[in-house]
Amino acid sequence: MVEAFVTLTLTSEIQAKSPSISFINSNKGKPLLVADDYTFKLNKTTTSTKYWICTINGCAAKVHTDLNNGLLKTVGNHSPLPGKEKLEVREAREKMTHLKKHFLTLNIST
Ligand SMILES: [Zn+2]
Repeated sequence: MVEAFVTLTLTSEIQAKSPSISFINSNKGKPLLVADDYTFKLNKTTTSTKYWICTINGCAAKVHTDLNNGLLKTVGNHSPLPGKEKLEVREAREKMTHLKKHFLTLNIST
């Protein structure tokens, strides 16, 4: 029961926080939707709704807009960016190297 309540609360918080969206044209002239630093390409248009999918391969995030490009809702979450993870690993490694150097310097000077 408690878990269900927490999940519901989190979900409504996420939905309440709508990203600000803007639109650009890709270099192929296709429209792209930009939300929270992610780009979405137009996947499907119906008589009432445009369906946008994240341009990152394998990402499950989607955005629905009306035909006037007004945000209706966001669906799903972005897959973690492999590039970002790599960056974090590199930063951690650089920190380690820095600490090691610092430690060695201390050892030499004492
Ligand atoms: Zn995504």
